[in-house]
Amino acid sequence: MPVFRCPFNGCEDTTNNEDKDIAIAIFNAHVATHTSGHQAENKSTRSEKIARPKISQGLLEEGWNSFLIQWRLYKTSAGLSEENKTQLIYCCEQELIEHVLRSEPDIVDKSEQDQLGLIRKLC
Ligand SMILES: [Zn+2]
Repeated sequence: MPVFRCPFNGCEDTTNNEDKDIAIAIFNAHVATHTSGHQAENKSTRSEKIARPKISQGLLEEGWNSFLIQWRLYKTSAGLSEENKTQLIYCCEQELIEHVLRSEPDIVDKSEQDQLGLIRKLC
């Protein structure tokens, strides 16, 4: 009778069944509980993510610094990578977005640091 031992660390689960195909199916289903559990974890992290921080025009130094912290937290909680940097522009209020795009139409192609610098200058 084939016995399948779960390959995940700390899991003692074994699967055995008279029928090898069924054993494999049960084993795969068990392994999926580990991997899908990981996805569920991501999903719950996602639903708890913090709201995208807002930048408005006329932001003071203090407000800007706290925005930077919130932006960093937001990026982490939303799992944003460098490719998602266009999200940064949506942190701006509509008026500021227009202002930024008017002075730098290619802003979304720029690096996050450049975008931050430009937004900082304009707000
Ligand atoms: Zn297991």
